[in-house]
Amino acid sequence: MTQSPVWHPFTQHATEPAPTLILRTEGAYLEASDGRRILDAISSWWVTTHGHRHPTIMAAIREASESLDQLIFAGFTHPPAEALARELVTLAPPGLTRVFYSDSGSTAVEVALKMALGTHRNRGEARSRIVVMESSYHGDTIGTMSVGARGVFNAAYEPLLFEVDRIPVPVAGREQEVVDAFEAIARQRRAAALIVEPLVLGSGGMLFYSPAVLKELARIARETGTLLIADEVMTGWGRTGSLFACDQANVSPDILCTSKGLTGGAVPLAATLATEEVFEAHYSPDRSRTFFHSSSYTANPIACAAGLANVKVWREEPVAQRIAALCAAQSEHVARFEEDARFENVRSCGTIAALDLKVPVGGYLAEVGPKLRAFFLERGFLLRPLGNVLYVMPPYCVTGAELGALYDAIDEAGTLFGSAA
Ligand SMILES: *Cc1c(COP(=O)(O)O)cnc(C)c1O
Repeated sequence: MTQSPVWHPFTQHATEPAPTLILRTEGAYLEASDGRRILDAISSWWVTTHGHRHPTIMAAIREASESLDQLIFAGFTHPPAEALARELVTLAPPGLTRVFYSDSGSTAVEVALKMALGTHRNRGEARSRIVVMESSYHGDTIGTMSVGARGVFNAAYEPLLFEVDRIPVPVAGREQEVVDAFEAIARQRRAAALIVEPLVLGSGGMLFYSPAVLKELARIARETGTLLIADEVMTGWGRTGSLFACDQANVSPDILCTSKGLTGGAVPLAATLATEEVFEAHYSPDRSRTFFHSSSYTANPIACAAGLANVKVWREEPVAQRIAALCAAQSEHVARFEEDARFENVRSCGTIAALDLKVPVGGYLAEVGPKLRAFFLERGFLLRPLGNVLYVMPPYCVTGAELGALYDAIDEAGTLFGSAA
């Protein structure tokens, strides 16, 4: 076979094994060309919620494609986009009344940042600084890298990244410090916006923080006229136990980004939701105040139909019960490592569980990362540790027995690869 021309994401082709060829996906599994069934324990990079190829979502995609494909969304509209927008406004935290469609999480965040700056500018306020949390991740475009953590991933692009103000991660014990840091910046600098991943910093290493801190940050943002952007690209659609993570803090952000689970993970779609105030700031007879943004594939009808079918699954199937059961199973399974000398920071938040394998040198490029990946794949599990941080984020259809087998493999990995072994 000739060499593949495909250049894979986040892949060092010089050192990594050839990619596994997958011919079929179903439920919690990827089915490889050699017949192996691999348990997708990270929901294919956090997108798959109900399971792969959920019948309701697949049927909606087929049906939509009988009448519509991409069509221009300026000056034109279509039923799937209209219906999904109404559903999103109903389901999202109160106050978010406007829905702007795009096609990826990164784009949804770019849109949010542009909305925030446009809002202040159109109101005649000189606010342009963005406040971010250390260790956060908001995407891989230049703008989203700017508001994310700096490190090995973006060192080469640093000259292009814009400056931001940073507050620490509100890990347990540091909450007040973080709230105070934000208050100081917000009062002195007159920031345009605070962008956060609510409750869970994903790519930053599965760091969890309490709803109480989120509530405090939201309060200060409101008091200081700083717009709050909730990046719920990963946390949305049940990941943290509630539909949106903001729900747990009773927080209504000014702008909310959703993508990944929006179509149940079937096809790309994103939406940036905004309050009436943000929309109003762009609503004017003066055409220069228009929100100047579009993606070619904005509001793709087939993707919107998939999103609508996802909402239908949420309404018609016992999704909330499934999630509650998974949350309980995750915290029980991971608890067995709590007093285990091979691991530390054993934690869970909703359907996500994580634990750090003790190794001599941690961090994202920890030597152990690729070895762990290969170890789990050999045993039929797709896990992709963030360096030495092992996390399990399965689709909601995973069974207790499947999780049990996975945690047994994690136990085995602790012995083989942990420094305390
Ligand atoms: C994945 C992710 C993004 C980026 O989404 P893409 O669809 O990969 O562009 C943004 N924010 C958060 C919190 C994410 O987890």
